[in-house]
Amino acid sequence: MLAAMATPDANPFPHLFAPLDLGFCSLPNRVLMGSMHTGLEDHARDFGKLAEYFAARARGGVGLMVTGGFSPNISGWLKPFSSRLSSRWQVVSHRRITEAVHAAGGKICLQILHAGRYAFHPLSVAPSAIKSPITPFTPRALSDHGIERTIRAFARCARLAQDAGYDGVEIMGSEGYLINEFLAERSNQRSDRWGGSLENRMRFPVEIVRRTREAVGRNFIVIYRLSMLDLVDRAQAWDEIVALAKQVESAGATLINTGIGWHEARVPTIVTSVPRAAFTWVTRRMKESVRIPLITTNRINLPNVAEAVLARGDADMVSMARPLLADPDWVEKARSGRATQINPCIACNQACLDHVFENRRASCLMNPRACYETELIDAPVVTKKHFAVVGAGPAGLACATTLAQRGHAVTLYEQSSEIGGQFNLAKRVPGKEEFAEPMRYWGNLLAETGVEVRLGTHADAAALKARGFDVVVVATGVTPRDPHIPGQDHPMVMGYRDAVMGTKPVGRRVAIIGAGGIGFDVAECLTQQPPSATTDIARWTREWGVDTTLLQRGGLVKADAEPSPREVWLLQRTPGKPGKRLNKTTGWVHRAALKAKGVHMLGGVTYEKIDDAGLHVSIDGKQQILAVDNVIICAGQESNRTLADELTALGMAVHVIGGADVAAELDAKRAIRQATELAAVL
Ligand code: NAP
Ligand code: SF4
Repeated sequence: MLAAMATPDANPFPHLFAPLDLGFCSLPNRVLMGSMHTGLEDHARDFGKLAEYFAARARGGVGLMVTGGFSPNISGWLKPFSSRLSSRWQVVSHRRITEAVHAAGGKICLQILHAGRYAFHPLSVAPSAIKSPITPFTPRALSDHGIERTIRAFARCARLAQDAGYDGVEIMGSEGYLINEFLAERSNQRSDRWGGSLENRMRFPVEIVRRTREAVGRNFIVIYRLSMLDLVDRAQAWDEIVALAKQVESAGATLINTGIGWHEARVPTIVTSVPRAAFTWVTRRMKESVRIPLITTNRINLPNVAEAVLARGDADMVSMARPLLADPDWVEKARSGRATQINPCIACNQACLDHVFENRRASCLMNPRACYETELIDAPVVTKKHFAVVGAGPAGLACATTLAQRGHAVTLYEQSSEIGGQFNLAKRVPGKEEFAEPMRYWGNLLAETGVEVRLGTHADAAALKARGFDVVVVATGVTPRDPHIPGQDHPMVMGYRDAVMGTKPVGRRVAIIGAGGIGFDVAECLTQQPPSATTDIARWTREWGVDTTLLQRGGLVKADAEPSPREVWLLQRTPGKPGKRLNKTTGWVHRAALKAKGVHMLGGVTYEKIDDAGLHVSIDGKQQILAVDNVIICAGQESNRTLADELTALGMAVHVIGGADVAAELDAKRAIRQATELAAVL
């Protein structure tokens, strides 16, 4: 049916841009901006920033958007005083969002999310009083009356959303939140009409959908987000999930969206090492059983990926959240033949989900304007200047392109033969293939904005002065820190660059000195046999124990990681297990992956010396020799500021950004934000 609807024009994504008729309204394309909490939802008295965030995506052509979760009552709060829609006074605030979206030609649904036992407050409720493994509060078991009140709260919230001008609601039934908790034995041990049999466990979600539909009438979108793969034990069986989908359809849902994995699941579902479109096969299985359109999700980030998913009939729509944070014009660029200009989401979570979990406003590593649309504005310049930007890593690239977009003349110097800096190392790490995409984006943007790019050019201070630049921005990055270990000039020792680039052979027994982000990356490189599992969905699901036959409850089988070709020691001086300082939403994945490969992760290590026998260390006062073939140094970075100091001595106007400014916290998120903010005001 989709193929017949596709227009035979030049657009390479005909399935993505086939309209979707919902009966009472039509969507212009198959892109749903999936729900994602940004932190802006929690300021109900001022939705100006949130309104502009959504309006920018509506202008960018998204077919349908879903807000971050709003709880239908206080017990459903994610955290104290977080987003909620349960009172009439809040309707006025929400109109600011819906009016902005409608003025921009878009459509938007409000997500109704009751946090259940994932709530971070003592008023939390659940089907049974069983604490989740990821929250500190034991929930109160809802009474029969409490359940009835909660169902009414959902329906009332939907009605308020309708009054606020939303085009529909999404009922959050997945990811291990309250509704999902009713469906699984691990969280529902009730013996009344809400627990036990499948019919009883399904009653809560089905009643919510039925009464929501009753409350809002026929011409209002009701999306139900259905957990198609729980990825936890004592959870739903596939036939139960199918039965629920059918009942949700009969109860009046317009669309069913896919949910993959509870938050407490120990299988990664969205991080960058998850293969693209790794879970759309689940939605395709569901398509055999329901008639209403299905939305699929997880790690769909570029138009060719989305088009392939739709073309093979896995779903009727694709949901993306983070890719639209990275580029609000994603849809319009794909539609108008400019897909190569899309700013890519690299699935790092660093500025979006990690921020939300730290109670900070979300943004995007690749696009610092995300959620700052009203604050970080690139105004055209009044007085044009000529800038030199030295260093084409993430900081230099973000600065050069932003300056040029504003109308300045920019010359970008890079001493290596390619742009991208440290991202060129990252893209070679198994599971970080996505880090190649930014170079495609920046390369096109440099050409589009007319930046003069000088690759393979060492910019020295005298030459820059002679060219008469008004201002020089120094983004010369970092150099590896010297750990000063006796014997470190032994031939078995190498830097991380050689290990990642494969420019020197690495033996079968290896010690890595330093267990920061780069130490972990090097360990991933050494313990995986190419090709990377991230490029092979079948291998990846086997390694993480996902049951693609859907015969097991929760969709889990025993994980079967391929053995590492090397024995690896990952070491740090700080006592305790390495990896504690890795990012919140991704660190556990790195630790679990290396554990599965048998990596020895040791803290509290003192490095004594390196000689023919190997690496001599003492741990807890005990001396030992690690008889390794190679030692790889990943001991952090120092700022590379030589050029900045020379330019200052010559009296030139200089700004220092990225790792050249602060190496200790070298990371691309800070570097790109700093560069973009600076370029917006120069
Ligand atoms: P890092 O994260 O600061 O880690 C440096 C490591 O070297 C630490 O384990 C530190 O542990 C050790 N170290 C520091 N001084 C040392 C010395 N004098 N002798 C021996 N060991 C020493 O730095 P990085 O690994 O180079 O990563 C740089 C940045 O890149 C990170 O901060 C991160 O933002 C980014 N990055 C992130 C990821 C990611 O997965 N998110 C991946 C790659 C890079 P002890 O002091 O305890 O020995
Ligand atoms: Fe994607 Fe990373 Fe941006 Fe989040 S911060 S939207 S994961 S690129």
